[in-house]
Amino acid sequence: MIIFKDFQFEAAHQLPYVSKEHKCSRLHGHSFKVRLEIFGETQKKTGWVMDFKKIKNIFKSVHNQLDHRFLNEIPGLENPTSEILAKWIWNKIKPHLPELLSVTIKETCTSGCIYKK
Ligand SMILES: [Zn+2]
Repeated sequence: MIIFKDFQFEAAHQLPYVSKEHKCSRLHGHSFKVRLEIFGETQKKTGWVMDFKKIKNIFKSVHNQLDHRFLNEIPGLENPTSEILAKWIWNKIKPHLPELLSVTIKETCTSGCIYKK
């Protein structure tokens, strides 16, 4: 079974390695969407894979590090593309949530990426 939990945070960034003419070289913000997918068996007794609250609690510190921040200032996010952000979140969450299957980032309604190992 795969379950998921969606999160959202607001943050600013700029991409340092695109050309000066590229709009992403300018400082701008996104309402980032994050989806964490968790893989596991449905527990016989509870009827669920995991309490969604557990996922929320684990994500809380990551949310605090990202929400209303300038992402470029965060260690490891000096080039804060969605791809690098997805992997950064994976590395923060996975040690606390071994069942983590994937991290999805959407930076606009139509653009995003999925990281899984
Ligand atoms: Zn952007």
